[in-house]
Amino acid sequence: MKDTFKHQGMRNQLVKTLIDKGIKDVDVLKAIQKIPRHYFMDSSFESFAYQDKAFPIAAEQTISQPYTVAFQSELLGVKPNDKILEIGTGSGYQTAVLIEMKAKVYTIERQQELFKKTKDFLPQIGYNPRYMSFGDGYKGIKEFAPYDGIIVTAGAPYIPKELLVQLKIGGKLVIPVGVEEQEMTVLTRTSELDFEKRKYGSFRFVPMLKKKN
Ligand code: SAH
Repeated sequence: MKDTFKHQGMRNQLVKTLIDKGIKDVDVLKAIQKIPRHYFMDSSFESFAYQDKAFPIAAEQTISQPYTVAFQSELLGVKPNDKILEIGTGSGYQTAVLIEMKAKVYTIERQQELFKKTKDFLPQIGYNPRYMSFGDGYKGIKEFAPYDGIIVTAGAPYIPKELLVQLKIGGKLVIPVGVEEQEMTVLTRTSELDFEKRKYGSFRFVPMLKKKN
């Protein structure tokens, strides 16, 4: 794996595109500027790595579009040392963005193949999540709750209650909700029992599935 000046140049261009599309969070932009996205994709697709597009990875899954990663990370409003739970590790690219933003990341993946691959790969390029698990994201990870933020990177047919329960008061759940198309939804826990809900437009994700595979 090599990160050349050419790759860095393409990343600078990608960051400009994201700014044009409305991304403002400097820490998000810096993370995208720094992380070699081409490392997360098959080497034969390297030339596509800096287009603002989703791309197939293993097990019929995709690495999310850079704009979507940036938008969700911005909505999450990550601060250094925040404890973040990610549902859908996939390629690990979103995980790396959160780690670059100095979050402590706990992440779950339900496809064994991807889980194994990404668990080996991320530390090799210097990104160490606090915990990586092979499991069902609908359940969250109780042992480490509560979280400052929870980010779901697959299309959820509904909002899983178990995830809301694992939020700190003041914490946020960023989740695309819907079946064919998803509405980007942010739920902020305002008290033990209350949540404020906001919507941020439609997106398309691979589905959040039940059971492990
Ligand atoms: N964050 C990833 C996005 C991968 S696509 C990246 O940047 O590459 C969404 C991922 O969610 C897929 O890897 C899929 O296998 C996973 N997923 C789907 N349903 C899930 C569930 N119930 N629990 C955990 N992961 C799930």
